[in-house]
Amino acid sequence: MTLAPPTVGDVLAAQHRLAGHVVRTPASRYAELDRLVATAGAAGTRLVVKHENLQHTGAFKVRGALNLLATRTTTPAGVVGYSTGNHAQALAYAARRAGVRCTIVMPSAPNPLKERAVRALDAEVVLHGERLEDACEEATRIAATTGADLVSAADEPALVAGAATATLELLQQEPDLDDLVVPVGGGSGAAAACLVAAALAPHVRVVGVQSAASPAAHDSWRTGELCARPNRTRAEGLAVGRGFTLTQGVLRAHLHDFLLVTDDQISRAQQMYLTAARTVAEGAGAASLAAVAAHPERFAGRTVGVMCSGGNAGAGELRRALDHTCATAP
Ligand SMILES: *Cc1c(COP(=O)(O)O)cnc(C)c1O
Repeated sequence: MTLAPPTVGDVLAAQHRLAGHVVRTPASRYAELDRLVATAGAAGTRLVVKHENLQHTGAFKVRGALNLLATRTTTPAGVVGYSTGNHAQALAYAARRAGVRCTIVMPSAPNPLKERAVRALDAEVVLHGERLEDACEEATRIAATTGADLVSAADEPALVAGAATATLELLQQEPDLDDLVVPVGGGSGAAAACLVAAALAPHVRVVGVQSAASPAAHDSWRTGELCARPNRTRAEGLAVGRGFTLTQGVLRAHLHDFLLVTDDQISRAQQMYLTAARTVAEGAGAASLAAVAAHPERFAGRTVGVMCSGGNAGAGELRRALDHTCATAP
C-alpha cells in the first residue's frame, strides 16, 4: 500500500477542525536559555521554544489523534494502537471524546505516569513484550481478531496532518525562524514540520534529531532504505526501532539534516529547560535543545525553533536530569 502524505490544504483543514480542541501553545524565548547554549558554543543563537509540553495530554500527539478520529469512520470494535505512552494517551483522549472504544498495547514496563494517564482516559491497556515493535505485533493481532481499526504510530496521513498544525502555529507565531529542530521517533512530527515548511516557509531548514541509542529513522534517512536498529534510548517518545514508509518518504524529500544526540545530552537539556526556562520537558521533548547544545556551530547566529514536544517526565527522570553534571552546568 502506498500512502500519500497530506497536502498543506489537509493541514489547514486540520487546523480549522482542531480549533478550540487543542491548546494554541506558546512559542517562547528565554534569555537564560540562549545564554546557556552560547556557553555551549552557539554564540548569538536565538531559541524559540514551541511548548507542546503544555498541550492536552502533555504532548503534540493529541493533534494527530484528534484529527485522525475526526476524519475516520471506525467499527464498533473501535481503534487499537501501540505506544510507549504519548501516542497512547493521545489516542485514548481522542477516542473518549469521539465515543469510540480504544485498546492500547504498551511494552511491559511503561512509564507509570503515562500508563496511569491512559487508564484514566478509559482505554483498555494491554502490556506486551519488551519493545515498541513487540507491542506493534500484538496490536496487529488484536486488530485482526476483533475487527478494530489498527492505528499506526506514523504511517497515517491524518496523524501527520494533525501534527503539522503545531508547526503551522509556530510559523504563524514566529515567521522569522531560520531553523526548526524536531525530535524524531516514527517521524510523524518531523514529516509534518517538513511539509509545512516546504509549502509555506521554504527558507526554514528543518533538522531532525534522534537518540544515538535508537537511530532507526536517522539511519533510514542516511541510507535511503527503511532500517531496523537497536532501540535502547531512555526517552520513550524516541524509542522506535524501525523506519516508517510514509514519514521517511517526506523526510527524504525535505529534511535538511538529521542529528544524533546521546541520552546524557538529552538529560542535560532537560536540566537546562528546568533551570533556565521553568519548563518540564520529557526526554524526547528536550532532544531538540540537546541537538542545538551538542552541535552549536550549526546554529550560531540563527533563530532556531526547538520543538519541546512533550512534558510527561517521570520523577526518576527529572531527578536524573537535575543531578546531571557537566562542564557547562550553571
Ligand atoms: C512521539 C513523540 C516524539 C516523536 O514523534 P514521532 O512523530 O513519532 O517522530 C517526540 N516527542 C514526544 C514527546 C513524543 O511523544
